[in-house]
Amino acid sequence: MLLGPPGAGKGTMAGGLANSAGLAVFVTGDVLRAAIAGGSELGIKVKSTVEAGRLVDDETILSLAQEFLRTHSQGALFDGFPRTIKQAEGLRSLLSAEDELRVVYLDTSKETIVARLGARRVCPECGRIYNVRFKPPRNDEICDDCNASLICRKDDTDEVIKSRYELYLAETAPLVNYFSEELLKVNGDLPGEEVLEIVRGELCPA
Ligand code: ADP
Ligand code: ZN
Repeated sequence: MLLGPPGAGKGTMAGGLANSAGLAVFVTGDVLRAAIAGGSELGIKVKSTVEAGRLVDDETILSLAQEFLRTHSQGALFDGFPRTIKQAEGLRSLLSAEDELRVVYLDTSKETIVARLGARRVCPECGRIYNVRFKPPRNDEICDDCNASLICRKDDTDEVIKSRYELYLAETAPLVNYFSEELLKVNGDLPGEEVLEIVRGELCPA
């Protein structure tokens, strides 16, 4: 699983790691946003919570995670889960004795987070993530892969970014201690490619 504040680069890391480690990725935020866009029962239930940057209830999140683990027993990578101690305890109880849990913690400064999230744009078609300052698309605000117009997530406004960060400190940061046995701590302020190299070296020894 990937642990770190919003904007730590978990999404970028998930894509790169899943490829090299052959893991199925569960991106909690993407699953919720897809449910909202599709208007499913789950989507209707979580819409206002997600758009306000608050946390969806633990029970809902745990049942999604459980279903994912059940259908991907060969190996799963969680991005954005667990996010509370309750969810972490739930994850432990879902794992069996043979399962090995590794936790990559992207230790990232507040300055980096604010700079990254305010400039973040997402492709509504393929989910690819851009940054208008550090990682812009070839054509202004257009996805390189599918030509769709990039969007700014509803929860990437200054005010919501600030409250998501505070929520992270209160609810999720305690997981760093909770998982101290399984933790691989990496400097999340480094460029994404560098972080990916470090993590690959640790988790997928040649
Ligand atoms: P980020 O990591 O950039 O904050 P995500 O895409 O992971 O954003 O999550 C977006 C939103 O989805 C969160 O602000 C929250 O409302 C909801 N969410 C995602 N993961 C969880 C989780 N594990 N528990 C509760 N809510 C979650
Ligand atoms: Zn795209």
